[in-house]
Amino acid sequence: MALLGMFSNDIAIDLGTANTLIYVKGKGIVLNEPSIVTYDVGSRKIVAIGEESKKMMGRVHKELSTIRPMKDGVIADFEMAEGMIKAFIKKISSNWMPAKRIVICVPSGITEVEKRAVRDTAEHAGAKEVYLISEPMAAAIGIGLDVMAPYGNMIVDIGGGTTEIAVIALSGMPTNYSIRTAGDELTEAIVRFFRSNHNILIGERMAEEIKCQVGSVMPLEEEVIIEVKGRDLVAGVPKVTEVSSVEIREALNPPASQMIEAVKVALEKTAPELSADLLERGIFLTGGGALIKGLDERLKMETGVPVHIAEDPLTAVARGTGKVLEDLDYYKKVLLKR
Ligand code: ADP
Ligand code: MG
Repeated sequence: MALLGMFSNDIAIDLGTANTLIYVKGKGIVLNEPSIVTYDVGSRKIVAIGEESKKMMGRVHKELSTIRPMKDGVIADFEMAEGMIKAFIKKISSNWMPAKRIVICVPSGITEVEKRAVRDTAEHAGAKEVYLISEPMAAAIGIGLDVMAPYGNMIVDIGGGTTEIAVIALSGMPTNYSIRTAGDELTEAIVRFFRSNHNILIGERMAEEIKCQVGSVMPLEEEVIIEVKGRDLVAGVPKVTEVSSVEIREALNPPASQMIEAVKVALEKTAPELSADLLERGIFLTGGGALIKGLDERLKMETGVPVHIAEDPLTAVARGTGKVLEDLDYYKKVLLKR
């Protein structure tokens, strides 16, 4: 009995469309895995989660289904999202007691109903107190910006499902705009490109790998040719084809341009005093999409505002949510709603 309460089991969760990260109070980030679930279609029992489940993607037999319970930044499959969160929490501690307090981040553009769903899911997973924080705010805190300051900072967080754009000042978000075009759309654009231009069907994992390795939105210093394997759409047999990074860039351009347009829209919605701050301080890119080659350069070219890629952009939101958890009493007063 004396042991109860001796260690903290307060956690922070970055429940992303692409990746889930869990931060334990006093310890830091202890889990970082894809938000993917494989389950048995008949019994609906979860058979694999995270990294293990990602390996199964596109390779499972009929009785199993591999899904992403988070889509477009919101919970698409409640049962599986809850099962996934529970399984991840179980994974980080064998003698885990239900987390007492959970800080969890949500996209800035979600509805009250969607917020309620996230809260319910965390409560079903065992949390006594649930606090929500919006993703761009968490990202800003994570990369060390002073969110209470009287000047504006712009965060552009590009995840799997959503691109979240926000101007943060005086602990609020005077501008926030989000679109449901982000990393996943870029991956899908690559799949479509191979289907229509090379008559070859490639899997999502292969497409994502191509995107991360050679995907770009500005000419590269040295363009490269890569070998891509898939299934020939006409003959039905495995096929290898060669493409250049120039072709991949063309394929990525439509969704990438939508994301850049969204940043411009957000800039147009920003009050002049804040715009002036941004010219000086710049835009901060977070989320996995920050790593697309040339995105910083292209954004700077199209907006005239300096652009910085955050250090370790994939963990920015989790680090920020963790900081809020560490200092919960303070942030409860200035930022959070129960
Ligand atoms: P979420 O918050 O939605 O879980 P993340 O911030 O974890 O998303 O980012 C995941 C997205 O970033 C995925 O679409 C992934 O393909 C993409 N990504 C990760 N690394 C890179 C990279 N080096 N280049 C381009 N995209 C990347
Ligand atoms: Mg995210």
